[in-house]
Amino acid sequence: MTLDDAGGITLILEAQEVPPVHEDNALGTSPFLLTSDHYGRAIPRSLGDLGLPPEELTRHIAWDLGIAGVADALSKHLGAHLIAQRYSRLVIDCNRPPGVPSSIPRISEATIVPGNEALTREAAQTRREAIFDPYHRRIAEVIEARLRNSMPTVLVSLHSFTPVYAGIIRPWHIGTLYHRDTKLPPLLLKSLRAEPDLVVGDNEPYAVSDETDYTIPVHGEARGLMNTGIEIRQDLLAEPAGQLEWAERLARILREIETTLRAQGLV
Ligand SMILES: [Zn+2]
Repeated sequence: MTLDDAGGITLILEAQEVPPVHEDNALGTSPFLLTSDHYGRAIPRSLGDLGLPPEELTRHIAWDLGIAGVADALSKHLGAHLIAQRYSRLVIDCNRPPGVPSSIPRISEATIVPGNEALTREAAQTRREAIFDPYHRRIAEVIEARLRNSMPTVLVSLHSFTPVYAGIIRPWHIGTLYHRDTKLPPLLLKSLRAEPDLVVGDNEPYAVSDETDYTIPVHGEARGLMNTGIEIRQDLLAEPAGQLEWAERLARILREIETTLRAQGLV
């Protein structure tokens, strides 16, 4: 940990480290704004390995396996602005309200994270300022700029889920996640269910809530934007070919939905 003499701000990211926010197609004109809270698994050098062996830092507790490839390709196909977090959810989870136990998890699934034990409030705040805040500040800035420019924004939050969690097998290939939006999720569910080869989860394997999520409630629902989460099962994204296939499929479906929304005057 170092002190920034100029601002007196405690920093955990050194100047030469990768910045937290990854963006693509910032000038894209698609109404879809893509976010990816668990895109990367970087850890600030100052935090070492959080006390975990390499095999823990590459599995699903550290990030959403395979989603980066889907997000990058989908952003390109749609010409949609993508905003993604490069740092691991084990450092601070960008889809949890800061301060809740799962924000900086002491245990993830059944793995104890030694680097997150007995964390001081100050240390937690430092992680928030270095990683969580810049990401969410950027999403807010982008949405506000789009609103100012009368550019429609449909928020799509991209995730992937582990095929087996705590011993329970999950049958869905893909799931939609939503809470308050009544427009986009039904359209997406209908389109996904029309794909003959898919088992589709309706708010599975998770549902969105104010307690267990951040991006959709804060950036989507609080602003009254149409929004949905999309969760893809990780074994389908294990190879780049699978990631590209899913990006192509989602691009086709989201383009169809865009046509429907335009016809209804919603974007
Ligand atoms: Zn995720």
